[in-house]
Amino acid sequence: MIPPGADTVLVRYGDIGVKSTKVRRDMEDSLESNLRAMLDSRDVPGELDWRWSRPRIRTPAADRTTDVARDTFGIVSASPAVSTEPTMAAIREALAETAGAIGVDGSFAVEARRAGEREAHPFTSEDIEREGGRAIWEVLADPEVDLEDPSRTFYVECRSEEAFVFTEKRAGPGGLPLGTQRPLVALLSGGIDSPVAAWEAMKRGAPVIPLYFDFEAYGGADHVARAVESARTLAGYAPNHASDLRIAPAGAVADRLVSEVGPTRMLSLRRFMLRVADRVAEESGAAGIVTGEAIGQKSSQTSANLAVTDRVARLPVHRPLLTRDKQEIIAQAREIGTYEDATIAAGCNRIAPDYPETNASVEAVDAAEPDLGTLVEEAVSGIETVEL
Ligand code: ATP
Ligand code: MG
Repeated sequence: MIPPGADTVLVRYGDIGVKSTKVRRDMEDSLESNLRAMLDSRDVPGELDWRWSRPRIRTPAADRTTDVARDTFGIVSASPAVSTEPTMAAIREALAETAGAIGVDGSFAVEARRAGEREAHPFTSEDIEREGGRAIWEVLADPEVDLEDPSRTFYVECRSEEAFVFTEKRAGPGGLPLGTQRPLVALLSGGIDSPVAAWEAMKRGAPVIPLYFDFEAYGGADHVARAVESARTLAGYAPNHASDLRIAPAGAVADRLVSEVGPTRMLSLRRFMLRVADRVAEESGAAGIVTGEAIGQKSSQTSANLAVTDRVARLPVHRPLLTRDKQEIIAQAREIGTYEDATIAAGCNRIAPDYPETNASVEAVDAAEPDLGTLVEEAVSGIETVEL
């Protein structure tokens, strides 16, 4: 619930706060420019105020601004708040007005925190809680006070120069500001998993360079459309970072593997993708590769098979979803907005053999795999970039 007259959004961060002073400053700067870019890209008015490393945004659109903040990597939570003078009378009045406007719907509590110099206020946070509670109690007809498990909490944050009243802390993604890590090449299939994996890497500060393999006759136009849509959704979280989609032609390699390789076909296909990704990373200064694989999710993703596919990559292959169950991944895809993109109708996977190998050895894969060097070169030189 938004307090009447809300004019500020308070922002909190987590992992940034435990960094050394210099690293923290840099990360705060990144967060500030990312947040500004997010507000601009969504056309939400707001002035950032980063004083005392207690970030806040002045805005006439507190609700929308809070939603932008909760989509910004590095932010743990955000609260739409009304600002007031840091005096007991003003705080009481703001609490009474807020309670009068939104009610309590059961029981309530006041939780106050004072920050800044001790001498700045002639009262303690307990005083605010007691007096503020009384002010609320006076405007509402006999509400129940429940300090243990209230149905509504009124928060007061009292700083030296002003105080804030708010009633909610909307969870953000947490993590680190985007751009504070080197980029990673994200293998984006347009399925459910890979956009979530890319998002997880972005959440830890690494911008992604999305790379999609177009298996042409085996995939089809709908497949490409899904990849484009999910890349676009991810780009919405990164308005000030380059994230155009790379599409690599891979119909020829699919043909070749379907006609020449049996049970280890999918492993050779994955090795092909990693070799191309490695090259894209090299050319774009990326420090690794991200995939949406999880242990045992498919035959190509057994722990034994992951060991075989990884061999061909020069850079580390990161798998943020390694230990996740499908249902958790689906729930997260819905939350971050990539689920819809993945469910656009698409041709099914016609490359897989009937009886895929689940426990491959490097020797067996090597022996069955044709020389893919030329096809890797062709895929790399045939890459097209789609502006999102
Ligand atoms: P997703 O995992 O994205 O839901 P999927 O489960 O159909 O799609 P898998 O066969 O599980 O795909 O592929 C494992 C991983 O390999 C994907 O998460 C993705 O990172 C990568 N990948 C698969 N197909 C492609 C493709 N056509 N282009 C780029 N990357 C791909
Ligand atoms: Mg998958």
